[in-house]
Amino acid sequence: MPEIPTLKTNVSLTSEEALQLFKEADFARSILESSSDCIEVLDLGGHLLLMNNVGRTQIEIDDFALCLGKPWTDFWEGESRDKAVAALEEARAGRKRNFEGFCPTLAGVPKWWEVIITPIRRADGKIKELLAISRDITDRKQIQDSRQVALGVAEDAQAFAEAATVKANEARVVADSANLVKSEFLANMSHEIRTPMGAVIGLADILALSRPLTDRQAEYVSTLRISATSLLALINDLLDISKIESRSVELENVPFSLGKVMGEVVSMMSIRANEKKLAFTVEDRSAPGARFMGDPMRLRQILLNLCGNAIKFTEEGSVRVTLSSQLIEGEKFELAIAVADTGIGIAAEKLASVFDRFVQADTSMSRRYGGTGLGLTISKTLVELMGGTVAVESIAGKGSTFTLRVPLQLVPASHPERSARKNEEPAVAPEARVLLVEDHEPNILVESTYLEMMGIACDVARDGLQAMEKFALRKYDLILLDVQMPSMDGLEVTRRIRAQEKLKHLPRTPIIGMTAYALAGDRQRCLDVGMDEYISKPFDPGDLKAKVLAFVVVR
Ligand code: ADP
Repeated sequence: MPEIPTLKTNVSLTSEEALQLFKEADFARSILESSSDCIEVLDLGGHLLLMNNVGRTQIEIDDFALCLGKPWTDFWEGESRDKAVAALEEARAGRKRNFEGFCPTLAGVPKWWEVIITPIRRADGKIKELLAISRDITDRKQIQDSRQVALGVAEDAQAFAEAATVKANEARVVADSANLVKSEFLANMSHEIRTPMGAVIGLADILALSRPLTDRQAEYVSTLRISATSLLALINDLLDISKIESRSVELENVPFSLGKVMGEVVSMMSIRANEKKLAFTVEDRSAPGARFMGDPMRLRQILLNLCGNAIKFTEEGSVRVTLSSQLIEGEKFELAIAVADTGIGIAAEKLASVFDRFVQADTSMSRRYGGTGLGLTISKTLVELMGGTVAVESIAGKGSTFTLRVPLQLVPASHPERSARKNEEPAVAPEARVLLVEDHEPNILVESTYLEMMGIACDVARDGLQAMEKFALRKYDLILLDVQMPSMDGLEVTRRIRAQEKLKHLPRTPIIGMTAYALAGDRQRCLDVGMDEYISKPFDPGDLKAKVLAFVVVR
């Protein structure tokens, strides 16, 4: 048992009394020494009277005499001292109190303690001393602190991530609106360019059919048409890319004949292949004559791109197109079209990137072969929108094979045919009359000439108001209506015509909308307001003829 030192300060216990206390409490003292916590006895003034050995070790007290009678609250530091003072006060008043506090060892090692301080009630019920039991919680506190730090770091990181998300969203909004502005700009530009191009191509077509033409003149007209058409193709590619970027490409889902699409591709491509003295062959192992649901214009566009490239990059040999189909389920087929050439091929390291935007396998080639590097990106996107794939195999110097695979649904037997007449030139009713609503003079010339060549008489309205006046005066077999017109556009004209028909119980006049705007959703917007058909300008004369004759023919 340690020697009991003499009390040095103003303590309410003499050394004899303290010794007595120890003797009386001999057993209790053994219990106290068995505890793993620091146990202290204080007088009511808060002076340290006793401390067990565990506590002395924990607080690194070598000489307890130096601490005896010292105010207990002096051991505590900072805010912990205030807590110790308050707890002491409570215990003095007879209440138990606990707190967590910071009290370094005498050697200065930082330590945290969980303290319970209670009054010691003697047998007579009086309180003369207080008992403080302190447990070392430094380890727990450090874990808590590091958790807190980690939590703080995590919170900071989260706050940072949230701020970054907000910034990213703001940037996206800016980018989206910039993208929208760009898409609108491109759509406007394309409208502005397509409108005069329509007139150039249309007049070249009309001139080509005019007689008499010398061979020289025919050549001029043909070159004029080819140049205008390739310029238009370029504009269409740029517009397609802008639509792809703004994710506004729309596909049609109409019945079409695969044979007809291939026929058009062959007739356009054979001329080019002949010019280069290449054999251009098509082997159809699919279901020739079958009609599928899908977007024939886009399928044709993809095939023209693949075949056009094959011819462009082949100097001698052949371009071979092979079609095959395989039943997937029910009436659904997978159509595979392989376009194989014996051309320059693509180097292995460039193969993966040819479908990327603006990529050309050899940039020095672009001047030799022309092109923009957009065609394959557009084709790939369109094929993927159709639910299909496009792949390439190539050996540099030997040739390339592009293979397109798309799932296609057979046209259901119950699907109504657009025109009952097939393979037979429909007869136009002699008295048939069309109202042409168009504000652009060169287009009026082209469109009215096309109608004239079909044997159809037309009245011309140069704006929406004139259209309404003419519509009120007589019944037309068809209205060919430009969509973009100043003051009253084609959509508004259609709405008013449909409203009047309803009001006056008039028979429905078919309306074909014409637009050079080519914005996503144009077609649907036209159909939604009550148009019956839609044609995008500049139109293919055959397409215009087919669509017009579907309405004005004698049935
Ligand atoms: P463009 O033909 O306008 O350059 P594409 O996107 O259609 O753009 O083609 C991208 C590139 O892929 C071409 O520039 C060419 O380098 C390569 N390529 C495409 N098809 C073939 C082919 N059949 N043979 C060789 N190279 C090809």
